[in-house]
Amino acid sequence: MNSRGPKPLPRKAWLAYLIIGLTMVGGYYLIPAEGFGVWGRLLTYCLLTSSAAVAVFVGLFRYRPRVWVPWLLLGLSQVIYASADATFYISHYIFGKTGFPGYADPIYISHYPLVVAGLLLLIRRRSPGGDLPGLLDAAVLAVVAAMLTWLYLIGPPTVSNSPALTRAFLMTFPLMDLVMLAVGLRLLLGPGQRPAAFSLLCANLFGIFAADTIYSLMRLGEKYWVGNFIDAIWLAGNLALGAAALHPTMTQLADRAPTVDKHLGPSRIAVLIGAALVAPVTLLVQNANGSMHDIPVIAIACALLFLLVIARLADLVSDQRRLAITDPLTKLYTRRFFEAQLPLEVARAQRSTTAFAVLIIDVDHFKSINDHYGHPAGDQALIEIAARLRKATRAGDVLARYGGEEFALLARDTELEELPRIAERLRHQVASSPIAVSEETWLAVTVSVGIAAYPLHGTRPDELIAVADRALYSAKARGRDRVVIGTAPELGPGLGEHTGMIDYLGHLADEVDSMLSTYEHSRAIARWARLISAELGHDEAGVRCAELAGRLHDVGKIVIPPEVLGKPARLSEQEWELMRQHPDSGYRMVAAVPGCDVVAEIVRQHHERPDGTGYPRRLRDSEIRIEAKIISVCDAWAAMLSDRPYQTALSESEAREELRRGCGTQFDTAVVNLFLELQEKGTVGDLRRLRSRSAARPSQRTSFTGG
Ligand code: GH3
Ligand code: MG
Ligand code: MG
Repeated sequence: MNSRGPKPLPRKAWLAYLIIGLTMVGGYYLIPAEGFGVWGRLLTYCLLTSSAAVAVFVGLFRYRPRVWVPWLLLGLSQVIYASADATFYISHYIFGKTGFPGYADPIYISHYPLVVAGLLLLIRRRSPGGDLPGLLDAAVLAVVAAMLTWLYLIGPPTVSNSPALTRAFLMTFPLMDLVMLAVGLRLLLGPGQRPAAFSLLCANLFGIFAADTIYSLMRLGEKYWVGNFIDAIWLAGNLALGAAALHPTMTQLADRAPTVDKHLGPSRIAVLIGAALVAPVTLLVQNANGSMHDIPVIAIACALLFLLVIARLADLVSDQRRLAITDPLTKLYTRRFFEAQLPLEVARAQRSTTAFAVLIIDVDHFKSINDHYGHPAGDQALIEIAARLRKATRAGDVLARYGGEEFALLARDTELEELPRIAERLRHQVASSPIAVSEETWLAVTVSVGIAAYPLHGTRPDELIAVADRALYSAKARGRDRVVIGTAPELGPGLGEHTGMIDYLGHLADEVDSMLSTYEHSRAIARWARLISAELGHDEAGVRCAELAGRLHDVGKIVIPPEVLGKPARLSEQEWELMRQHPDSGYRMVAAVPGCDVVAEIVRQHHERPDGTGYPRRLRDSEIRIEAKIISVCDAWAAMLSDRPYQTALSESEAREELRRGCGTQFDTAVVNLFLELQEKGTVGDLRRLRSRSAARPSQRTSFTGG
């Protein structure tokens, strides 16, 4: 309200108005309804009803509500109502016209549309984004009211033998009241503040409805006489409207409710149960009275009530589900929902051989926001960060609040080369502009992102999370505000104190791969060897041996001159001789690491063949370790599917055929069968994404942790 506006009313003006008004209602009944008393009654009645109209305009003018149209409509409706009253009592007391309908009745009828329009405007302002529960609850009560109105007020005039005009008016009043009641119930059961002005307005609506209903019943039974007790209800109803407008809270009636509460409280459940029982009870009453001609109306009401109750339940269930998977602060998905999605996504990706990625996003130095500006400011920042992340997320991806100030994104159908762009978009969106944590404080906030890609970095949800987590810590360690793409875990069996040497050998293996332009080759062999070994039931140590041997199987090639290693033509016999030494070279390098004897032995055997024609030692089937046999199959598969200087890649079906052909001679049959089975499921053997590794061009702040 602006400061140059009119002075507000005294705080208790509404109460004074109500008390004086109600006292006058008492006085009204003391005035005799004859002689000069008639004038007294007429003047008192009209004074009271028109005072309500005046009060609405006074309230409107003095309080200047932001949303004023509903009050204007209510005020105008009261003007019409008061004129109808004046018309009625003048024609009754002065001109002695007592027939029904009279001149006043069309005027009464015309006040309803204004009331309904005013109420509808209020309801629309109060309910944010619609309010299905309130609507359904109001509909339940309205259906019951409609049924009763039909049975006891509208139905009888249709069968009575009064003149058509009389019947029309007898039916129109209850119909209009019913519409007003339905809208009033919608207001009452909807969301929003319920200050005193709200209660007074409801008292007006339900008071008038009650008085009108009693009036209609008395009219039908021809028991109505002017000036009976109903006048008191009508007058009190009118006074309630005037008092509502004079109450200081009248400005809050159109305020938007913060949220729609779908909750069913005990009182509302009781009301709905009572309402639902009205129809069957009415049926019993009709049955006892022997009047069964209204059965269709009651049946329709029952059906409508059932449908409304089911709709209400369905809405409640879907709301509960939504709440269960929504983080209350940020409105993102919960961690639990995210973790439930991961196995489903793995299964989906295996079926359709697609890729996806897990991104973990952690806010940088978030603790200091809490420490300096307080927890509520931290919460405010989290809400805004979540909103920005959501803005940068594609439809269909799952964005969740993973922990306090950690978020997780499941990026579906995403190839490795797209990941830097996706992650950078998230990082930029958060950092795009300072975030308001209070009215005067704006903070620059950044995030770090760790990424794991399926199947490159793991095929199980926990593996992917672990890789993304490690990448995130790497991003933090490198200075924050950046994206790091993870790598599959490097494992050594009981090598706690020698991981540095293993890492160095891993680095050499990557070097060999890059000289051969087969990026990630040894990492892929390690991963497949681990999976196959585990599938064969090997213990943890065995699985780790197979994995590490896979990772290092080609490390001996580092001593072969690059011009031989990368020669774009067939090798000479001499060069082949050099090549064939790599298992022995690798053996010596790995065996130099304490505790790695077994791994070294596997590396030395990975080119041996069950038929005894392999190298370097022409071992026989039973002399070759199972891990070496596994690596031999994986290595051959990767080689067959890659373009080499001297050979173009085979198709997958050709390679499968080739493996089968080598069973028993070059390869171990059981290992080949298991490999092909897992390859069919998409668990091992996927080279498509290995090649794309070289295409992934990390942007400025995106890096791969590997190497
Ligand atoms: P960095 O990640 O860059 O290493 O630093 P950090 O300060 O963000 O480190 P850390 O992960 O240890 O701090 C997380 C803080 O987030 C600690 C906790 O007080 C705060 N936090 C967690 N959940 C909430 C929350 O719901 N609201 C608020 N305001 N703070 C939260
Ligand atoms: Mg943090
Ligand atoms: Mg954290």
